[in-house]
Amino acid sequence: MTPTPIVTRAAVLHAFGDPHRIEEVELRAPGPDEVRVRLVAAGVCHSDVGAADGEWGHPLPVVLGHEGAGVVEAVGARVTGLREGQRVMLSSAPGCGTCAHCLVGRPIRCQASLAAMGDGRLTTGSSPITGGRGPIATYSLLACFAERAVVAARSAIPIPDGLDLQTAAVVGCAVLTGVGAAIETIQIPAGSRGAVIGAGGVGVNAVQGARVRGAAEIVALDPSPDRREWARRFGATHGEDAADPDRMAALRARAAEDGFDWTIVTVGVAEAIRLGVEIVRPGGTCCVVGLMPQDRPVPIDMLDLVTYERRIVGSAYGSLTPARLVPRILALHASGALLLDELVSHSFPLEAIDEAFALSRGAGGLRAVLDLTDGGRSRVPTASGLGRSTPTTAP
Ligand SMILES: [Zn+2]
Ligand SMILES: [Zn+2]
Repeated sequence: MTPTPIVTRAAVLHAFGDPHRIEEVELRAPGPDEVRVRLVAAGVCHSDVGAADGEWGHPLPVVLGHEGAGVVEAVGARVTGLREGQRVMLSSAPGCGTCAHCLVGRPIRCQASLAAMGDGRLTTGSSPITGGRGPIATYSLLACFAERAVVAARSAIPIPDGLDLQTAAVVGCAVLTGVGAAIETIQIPAGSRGAVIGAGGVGVNAVQGARVRGAAEIVALDPSPDRREWARRFGATHGEDAADPDRMAALRARAAEDGFDWTIVTVGVAEAIRLGVEIVRPGGTCCVVGLMPQDRPVPIDMLDLVTYERRIVGSAYGSLTPARLVPRILALHASGALLLDELVSHSFPLEAIDEAFALSRGAGGLRAVLDLTDGGRSRVPTASGLGRSTPTTAP
């Protein structure tokens, strides 16, 4: 283990709404319960974009990024089960390991973790990153938009040799969140009928989670025809244009007699969440996954909610502890039941991080990943939408 700090390159956000700056930052040596990881890939999630836009407030400057995968290169003195050279994906739900929530396998509810997350530090200590002008915050207990990261050992989950690291990065949030909402949070019943609202990176995973659970009808609701088409490949039985007011009115009108058994709302937009509640049948469940900007209430008709006995359920990070959910997901992938390698539609070098953010803001592509290996390579969608590798076109 290296006892001294190292220097690494990172994309640093200094002010909300500003472009990132690629800077050399200092990374302290891992503490006794931490590891240092050489990152190979980091996915750009909508919550990174929301954070960069200041939708939730966060200590600044910050290194964002909470979907990462790479190779362990230094291990703290008390760490067991991880070794140098081990391939890992990173999780932003390490938990403290000792509170009531962590002990029952729900680290996402761990208040100590949430406090550390809000402070921009790790559960195991201070933020490991320092810039020229002082400390730099981590994001979601990680900080994956960098070539290296020091994280709590509990955030590093070993992955099999055969798993592509770009794929593994996306498993860290989009897959856990989408598949987990379907198979763990609301445990979609076989033969049920449901809709996924928002068919981006998380949405197509909710779709395939529903497919794995044996849902009979899975409708992808999205304004983008491309995204509806992607959703079909991941298992949606059909799509509906969420921007078509007549179609949405028709779904609302039939809800009392013939509504969906469940909906999963993956976008943090008030109108989408309201729609998700209003198109479920009496007794149906609306599961909300998308993060709303802070202090933005959603108007829900409480008379309908009570008289129809509808349920609204929040789901964070697939509910279950990642150390248990990830192996389930990888086993489903190995059996061919879950498509994972098809999720990465674009890849950019670290220097092009703002292009990746622009793509995500514009709802283009399925999932953009930063390629943090030397040289970087660019992957663009084929005409039909999903990944094909091309030689580098990086700046
Ligand atoms: Zn995310
Ligand atoms: Zn805890």
